[in-house]
Amino acid sequence: MATAPLLAPASLRADFPGLAGNWAYLDTAATAQKPQAVIDAVVRAMGTDYATVHRGVYARSAEMTRAYEAARQSVARFMGAASPEEVVFVRGATEGINLVAQSWGDRLQPGDRILLSELEHHSNIVPWQLLAERRGLVLDVAPLTEDGRIDEDAAIALIGPQTRLVALAHVSNVLGSVLDVKRLADAAHAEGALLLVDGCQAAPHMAIDMAALDCDFYVWSGHKLYGPTGIGVLWARGSILASMPPWQGGGAMIETVSFERTTYAPPPQRFEAGTPHITGAIGLAAAIDYVESVGLSAIRGHEATLLRAAREALGRINSVRLFGPENSAGILSFAVDGVHPHDVGTILDEAGVAIRAGHHCAQPLMAQLGVPATARASFGLYNDMQDVERLADGIARVTRIFGVK
Ligand code: PMP
Repeated sequence: MATAPLLAPASLRADFPGLAGNWAYLDTAATAQKPQAVIDAVVRAMGTDYATVHRGVYARSAEMTRAYEAARQSVARFMGAASPEEVVFVRGATEGINLVAQSWGDRLQPGDRILLSELEHHSNIVPWQLLAERRGLVLDVAPLTEDGRIDEDAAIALIGPQTRLVALAHVSNVLGSVLDVKRLADAAHAEGALLLVDGCQAAPHMAIDMAALDCDFYVWSGHKLYGPTGIGVLWARGSILASMPPWQGGGAMIETVSFERTTYAPPPQRFEAGTPHITGAIGLAAAIDYVESVGLSAIRGHEATLLRAAREALGRINSVRLFGPENSAGILSFAVDGVHPHDVGTILDEAGVAIRAGHHCAQPLMAQLGVPATARASFGLYNDMQDVERLADGIARVTRIFGVK
């Protein structure tokens, strides 16, 4: 495999005030640090540019409305949506999935089936369990391959005439494994089912294009794409979104209200009740600009090179067990024999290396891997080879402290 060139993280790192100080930040899969351009955009939006959207008759509010809707257009372009009307601003992936479960899910009938996989994040499990309890549905669970990818053949075999929805992660937040979305979309559609993709860990690492992926719903969170917290995206195919009832009632989502009869605005407003996260949407658009200025294919190559180096370095330590496939997207989970991942994380922290240790909101996957928790290093566009070396040195120290080889 050819090694992709590294970006120049020293100059990129300087864009991120959160990276100041002598630490190796390897927890980007939990949340990404923010570039100054995003911070500035949010500060401007909360300061000199601030006003509400949609309702004001004065110029400042009209400008804010334009900026908010321009952010929607940026998102639509970024993800290859057919139209900005297909983009609903939500709090994050979790809210996007709950929206689909509560609104679209209302049409499901007892005995209908939803297919998930063993590696899903809790936010792509629990909303479906809640819906299944309400509507009498059956949840099917696709197994994983030996190397920790969703077993696509087995998943496809589980899609039958009763399957109404397939809901899978594009990239696993624990293993970094990448799904062939188009393949699953074709298989779901062949049985008349829809495909929801949890793109939380894909959007920061690879170009996403709704037309090419051919899925029906796609959700992601802004804070993992170097944007603010509290803002995320639900994309849904226009015809499907138009068929969905509101999920929350309030201002901004209506056409007319009377005590006799209320009518609802068309999408996306129908799904955005209340004053939206105006400054978050504007910050998200700035994050998209930033990521596009670096380039997603360059980011993908950079992170793949770092990942390979990390796998090699940790793979040389006998007591380290690596999880997930070799070509994972920016994420590496591992265990050190005989050492609890929390201890690994604490010892690394003493050396200024920040990783995540725990079940990563994927307890069914932990059960499948046969561990209570893993240690996880995850990479972003600002990481470099020094971060990899510090990680490997830190793990070597863990093995010395615990006397494992
Ligand atoms: N899905 C995946 C794969 C994730 O990694 C996460 C965040 N860890 C989520 C869903 C939930 O995202 P949020 O907490 O931003 O709603």
